[in-house]
Amino acid sequence: MLSNKMAKAINEQINRELWSAYLYLSMSMYAEAKGLKGVANWFFIQFREEQDHARIFMNYLNARGAQVELQPIAAVQTSWDNMEQAFADTLAHERVVTEAINSLAQLAQDEHDFASQSMLRWFIDEQVEEEESVGDILNTLEQLKGLNQGLYMLDKDLSTRTYTVPSPLAGKE
Ligand code: MG
Repeated sequence: MLSNKMAKAINEQINRELWSAYLYLSMSMYAEAKGLKGVANWFFIQFREEQDHARIFMNYLNARGAQVELQPIAAVQTSWDNMEQAFADTLAHERVVTEAINSLAQLAQDEHDFASQSMLRWFIDEQVEEEESVGDILNTLEQLKGLNQGLYMLDKDLSTRTYTVPSPLAGKE
């Protein structure tokens, strides 16, 4: 049986994942409005992945007999100074999410909740990838700075990103 404290913390994390989805959808629409279809594609895949993260936590609460309690999703920013700012905000946000996942892992450890520790391991690894991938994009933007076609080149690059179902959801759709 999941503790009430853990169920509440996971419900808060579900809201955080859905807010992340909403943030990246907003960034995707912002990029699309600027004619940057590749950047829009990258953020739209982020949007789908964050919904998947929420789904993984919801599946876990259901599997443990705990109640999913969906809370309102707070408003998100709808425009940025430029694309670099959107990616910088993305990295800052993912670092906040990493801290939240770490706090959940700490709680699971304090409660000797081994099932939650096991479930959270995937998210701990996922956050390393999240921070790395957006860090790579920021590095690319830095290197392309001053080039007339820099953003165009990045846009081409990000248009190749494809969505894949995260392993905890494979075969569950
Ligand atoms: Mg996430």
